[in-house]
Amino acid sequence: MIKISEKTKHVEGNINSACARVGRDPSEVKLVIVTKSATIEAVQEVIRLGFTDLGENRVQQLKKVSTELDDFFRRPEGEPHPPKNINWHMIGHLQRNKVKHVLPISCLIHTVDTLRLAEEINTSAAKLNLCPKVLLQVNTSNEPQKYGVPVGAATHLAEQIETLPNLKLVGLMTMAPLTHNKDIVRACFIRARELFVEMRGEKIVGHHFTELSMGMSSDYKIAVEEGATILRIGSAIFTG
Ligand SMILES: *Cc1c(COP(=O)(O)O)cnc(C)c1O
Repeated sequence: MIKISEKTKHVEGNINSACARVGRDPSEVKLVIVTKSATIEAVQEVIRLGFTDLGENRVQQLKKVSTELDDFFRRPEGEPHPPKNINWHMIGHLQRNKVKHVLPISCLIHTVDTLRLAEEINTSAAKLNLCPKVLLQVNTSNEPQKYGVPVGAATHLAEQIETLPNLKLVGLMTMAPLTHNKDIVRACFIRARELFVEMRGEKIVGHHFTELSMGMSSDYKIAVEEGATILRIGSAIFTG
């Protein structure tokens, strides 16, 4: 079995190469390590390696893993302490009745795709005196079964979300379809980037609209080439 440290190095090497190909600075690209396929020991290992941004796609799992880690951080006197500043990313589809559970844990919700969900986050956040960061999930692949607002409706939804005081819209998120056809994948990422640039240009969104979350284990190199600022990677680090 290949060690996790070697796999994270390999992924980081690929990110650096992809950045070099298109003249980007690797510090512009944040790696969120998706822990849904990992054992708790493997999660602790990536934290020891210095990674601070972790992601889960299910609320139940987000609560479980973040709670289990609390014990890991409560180490006896004298033992080396791992970094405590873990940032949890909610990257999966979010039901409105689960919002209140996610808000106290998550630093960024990647998957806002309806006004009703945004309004629920806004209302719950106000009660908790929070102002969470969120991304608008856009369906760039036009697959009807996929979550995400259609590209043509994204700008209007962003305008509506911008009026809500207790959340902060900081960018877009998208998922490419699972296919070996790299042209299809790249086209989705280009669509997301164009929408991102357009929203910024037309001042529909504020200065803090800076994040483009796209790219998973199978397609992160393409995502980096097309401007991703956040990658969500799990299996490339935890499986095989
Ligand atoms: C699981 C998941 C990922 C990570 O996928 P891998 O192929 O394991 O890298 C990224 N984004 C979302 C929304 C996911 O559910």
